[in-house]
Amino acid sequence: MAELTRWRDRCIRLISACPDAFLEVDAAGVIIEWNPRAEVLFGWSRDEVIGRPAGDTVLRARLGRSPFDDADGDHRDAWGDGWRRFQLEHRAGQTIDAEAMVFSTGYGATRCVSGFVRCVEELDGAKPLEPATGTTATTVELSGLGTDPLTRLPDRRRFKDALARSLAEGASPGSVAVALLDLDRFKVINNSMGHDHGDLVLVAVADRLSGMAGHADLIARFGGDEFLALFADRHGYAHRRALAFAERARAALREPFLINGSEVFLSASTGVALNAFGVDGAPELLANAEAAMYRAKRRGGQAVETFQEPMRIESLDRMTTEHSLHRALDQRELTLHYQPVVEVGSSAAVGVEALIRWRHPHQGLVPANRFIPVAEESGLIMPIGAWVLQEACDQLRRWPGRKDRRSLGSMEVNLSARQVADKRIVATVEEVLARTGLPAERLTLEITESALMDDAGSSLEVLRALKQVGVQLAIDDFGTGYSSLSYLQQFPVDMLKVDRSFIEQLGVRSESEEIVSAIIGLAHALGLRVVAEGVETVGQLEILRSLRCDLAQGFLFSVPRPASEIATSFPLPISA
Ligand code: C2E
Ligand code: CA
Ligand code: CA
Repeated sequence: MAELTRWRDRCIRLISACPDAFLEVDAAGVIIEWNPRAEVLFGWSRDEVIGRPAGDTVLRARLGRSPFDDADGDHRDAWGDGWRRFQLEHRAGQTIDAEAMVFSTGYGATRCVSGFVRCVEELDGAKPLEPATGTTATTVELSGLGTDPLTRLPDRRRFKDALARSLAEGASPGSVAVALLDLDRFKVINNSMGHDHGDLVLVAVADRLSGMAGHADLIARFGGDEFLALFADRHGYAHRRALAFAERARAALREPFLINGSEVFLSASTGVALNAFGVDGAPELLANAEAAMYRAKRRGGQAVETFQEPMRIESLDRMTTEHSLHRALDQRELTLHYQPVVEVGSSAAVGVEALIRWRHPHQGLVPANRFIPVAEESGLIMPIGAWVLQEACDQLRRWPGRKDRRSLGSMEVNLSARQVADKRIVATVEEVLARTGLPAERLTLEITESALMDDAGSSLEVLRALKQVGVQLAIDDFGTGYSSLSYLQQFPVDMLKVDRSFIEQLGVRSESEEIVSAIIGLAHALGLRVVAEGVETVGQLEILRSLRCDLAQGFLFSVPRPASEIATSFPLPISA
């Protein structure tokens, strides 16, 4: 018995003298050991924490989960056999960037999870932590340690430092990876719902990412709506871990966010970059992650891309595109082409859709998809969109033989998500109608289904206001945005444009006919007219006729053409 007491005393002395914080949690998650260094690191005295649940106030992981939460797991498997990075919370609320080595002993009810924890800053030679004084609140100076004040995540500087250290430590290629997450269309939320709202969204996102702390070595806010995760893995699994993390993040963001009582749908574009051969330092690795992220954005967002060399050129290209788009607007390099919209029953054209083109001085006619995403990202879509509206409405009045209301036909103009998120679009539309004298009902504004889903609350308000002005509204690319017709019923729309991907399958796959038939049936029941997009064959047109589709557009009737070529063929019936 005396032997046992002596042995125990010796253990306690050793643990007390340990330069790292040492703590032990029993099978029920209650703290049973807490050394003086732990008092210093966390600001809680031994007396205050012994007997309390670790996940309670003590040892609350800043990133949702502490290395000690998982008392049932096998820590050697879960945490590896070395030091792992975690973010824990000091008593006073500051984030502690910590390294922990956790192990378990015993089985079942006798099982304990023990761990050594040390502060990363301290290791790097920053100011050592001061001891806690009894039960009083912290004396530990942790302010200014590079924490983002909004989300409480580590900030950009701290991430860069940690990255530089990881690169220096694990120089072997493939041992370090970075994942850069950029929220898709966050600017729309910020612009439409206000910055306070946007801040709440960022905090909520940070919290969800925090829940994945165990899957990255450091998670930080890079600034704006960008978040970063670091993976250092000397066994060369950094890339694999980064991709797994990106997948988890994607799943975590998929659940709608409830912000001030309204649901916000979010997704992120993620770029992953590795310390491959030839990558020189933290700045280059981050630039590569950014280039990969932009590639993910170009794929329409909600995607993960790993950096590859050709992306460097692409990101340069993006910048030059943005630069020269400014010039394009000033120098009148933008132009509109028009594609007829025809009645399925008679094949007579009843209107046109305006589609933008860029007459680039070196690259020739650049299609919309190549530059509209850049214009949206940079905000240039606002002046460009206003120009499109003005030019299209002007054109409809300019075409000869269209002086009386009946033969005027209608003009369809595409609006981007960003335009719909900004209430000023209503005034812009009113001004254009007033200036051109075009009757409001002759103008149809098209908004993609995904833009509506982006931020349903505020687009609804804008759409209602536009409806008051008297214009027609259409949902574009219907079927690609995962919404349901019953959900869209609340939007005051007049028309549904079924995405080309469904039309091109008509006559090829029997299900597509059933899908299109169901869409048309439901749309009609809701009083909406249906346009089939991208009709290319007579076979497709015949199926659409049998399904009682109202209108159609596509190469079968005409490719989009300049205004001068439309004038002769429009509004004459097009036979198919
Ligand atoms: P969208 O509104 O869905 O326009 C239809 C696109 O499909 C057009 O591409 C058109 O040229 C193409 N198309 C039409 N019929 C057929 C067909 O039978 N087969 C095939 N394969 N394609 C067909 P475009 O002009 O390159 O425009 C692409 C997208 O860019 C548009 O998709 C629209 O979302 C956007 N866009 C175009 N103009 C503007 C604009 O002025 N403002 C905004 N915000 N977006 C625009
Ligand atoms: Ca369209
Ligand atoms: Ca479309």
